[in-house]
Amino acid sequence: MERYRALIADLEREIPGFRVVRKDRSRLHRAIDVALRIVTLGKMRDYLSSYQTTIGKTVYVTSDWDDWHPDRRYVTLRHEAVHLRQFRKLTLPVMALLYVLLPLPLGLAYFRARFEMEAYAESIRAAAEIWGPSYPTATAYRAHVIDQFIGPSYGWMWPFRRAVERWYDGVLATLAAER
Ligand SMILES: [Zn+2]
Repeated sequence: MERYRALIADLEREIPGFRVVRKDRSRLHRAIDVALRIVTLGKMRDYLSSYQTTIGKTVYVTSDWDDWHPDRRYVTLRHEAVHLRQFRKLTLPVMALLYVLLPLPLGLAYFRARFEMEAYAESIRAAAEIWGPSYPTATAYRAHVIDQFIGPSYGWMWPFRRAVERWYDGVLATLAAER
């Protein structure tokens, strides 16, 4: 529990008003879920059950969050902490506009991809810290993260496999350099 609890305490100090809320109890997120199913033609079906989402100072989590191993919650919260800082830096309206709409809501979401690359780089670093440096180099994990960018999960935000692979391997190289 230690590391997860410590990160929560750090974030409470760093981001006054920070909180963790169940996503399925939020009317806003139930509405977003319906909208996502429509715009992705049913391809994005697990928004409420499989994705943690940060808006402003709030991290919205799936209903099974408390059952997760604390290490897994820690790694995920490291990713969400990057988004908390992005919202703080850019403000909610600017962040929402850039993340959701620009330049396109689907297929070429440059800013969403930029924000998620920053956050997934933190996921990779945290995963290496908790589960060992070989964890993010494993084919399945690498493929999973790359799929988030090129597949329907985030509306095909950056569907350029080679570019995303280069980004991923660049993050791995920085990890190796730090060791
Ligand atoms: Zn994210």
